[in-house]
Amino acid sequence: MTLSLSDFSHPALAERLKQLIPLEAVACRAATIRHAGRGRFGLAWAAGVSQASDPKAVSSDHNEMTNRITETKAIRLGISTCLLGEEVRHDGGHKRDPFLMETLSDLVEWVPICPEVELGLGTPREPIHLVRDTSAPDGVRLTSVKTDIDLSSKMRRFSRQRVRALALERLSGFVLKRGSPSCGMERVKVWSGPGPAARNGRGLFAAELMRQYPNLPVEEEGRLHDPGLRENFFDRIFMYGRLRRLLSRRWTIGTLVTFHAEHKFVLMAHSLPRYRELGRLVADAKTIPRAELARRYEDELMEAMRTRATRRRHTNVLMHAMGHLKKYLDGETRKDLLEVTEDYRLGHVPRIVPITLIRHHARRLDISYLLQQVYLNPRPKELMLRNHV
Ligand code: SF4
Repeated sequence: MTLSLSDFSHPALAERLKQLIPLEAVACRAATIRHAGRGRFGLAWAAGVSQASDPKAVSSDHNEMTNRITETKAIRLGISTCLLGEEVRHDGGHKRDPFLMETLSDLVEWVPICPEVELGLGTPREPIHLVRDTSAPDGVRLTSVKTDIDLSSKMRRFSRQRVRALALERLSGFVLKRGSPSCGMERVKVWSGPGPAARNGRGLFAAELMRQYPNLPVEEEGRLHDPGLRENFFDRIFMYGRLRRLLSRRWTIGTLVTFHAEHKFVLMAHSLPRYRELGRLVADAKTIPRAELARRYEDELMEAMRTRATRRRHTNVLMHAMGHLKKYLDGETRKDLLEVTEDYRLGHVPRIVPITLIRHHARRLDISYLLQQVYLNPRPKELMLRNHV
């Protein structure tokens, strides 16, 4: 049996695995997903593999990789346009975010929106801000700073229509510009009187986005510099994208049950109690009208995903997975698995190391319960993104 360690781009990790997995079983190579060409914001992809010892293994791995990439549609994320380096800010500048541009741009397809430019305010333009007004919707007005022109109604109407149109864009998430009276997700300055502004507002476009798509994973660029928040955002965008793909097709209770079973480990890593609640919902599926079932499943699933997966919870999931292997493994192999999981718990190796080992043994022993778990079989782009956590 040939094991493909296609998930590894880091030689040190591959080396650690080579120590643990018999060399003759390993066609170990770094998977390289090359950027094959892109338009201004769109991307096209190709998969390439480096040389491995067995040409047949390489060919079969390549086919497998190509199939997996073909079946995985591009990850489409909405983004505040100024974060891409476009000069759309009120002062004619931009807020290019190096992490988003240099790391994520090769892995996702951006769908840029600048609400202020699309509203027709032009660039450069007078800056605008939020002002407290208890008689206004949400208790705030959007006004120009010097001339005090009220743009609230125009911006709210524009946002309603523009956000509604996003339903066609198949977005898996949205990255918003922090602090903006249009795009800011939280803690946006709200002025009232001569004192300092309170940091408790939300940009009008962001508010509409989160109102119409409460389950869409949304983050601000600054928060994505935190590895924990970033990983949680990635978890949420992949889960949301997979669920939307399922529910946008002809789905049955059977396919929903399968989806739920395949995501058991992912959910356990975020919230075991919520995984169990979702299980009860799925068990009652036949008694619930389909539309209500889909809505409740999505709501509860994405609520579960909002709970951050911790290293401790991931370790519990890995131990749970190992529990299904241990009776088939000899003492030495069990010890290796425990050691590498402990290495992960202590932060010495990334999670993909124990995952790859567990998957190797699950494949070798053909344990279908483990092989069906999305947690143990992430897609190539998912892996590439996780390399940046
Ligand atoms: S924060 Fe939003 S509205 Fe302001 S320049 Fe950036 S994209 Fe445009």
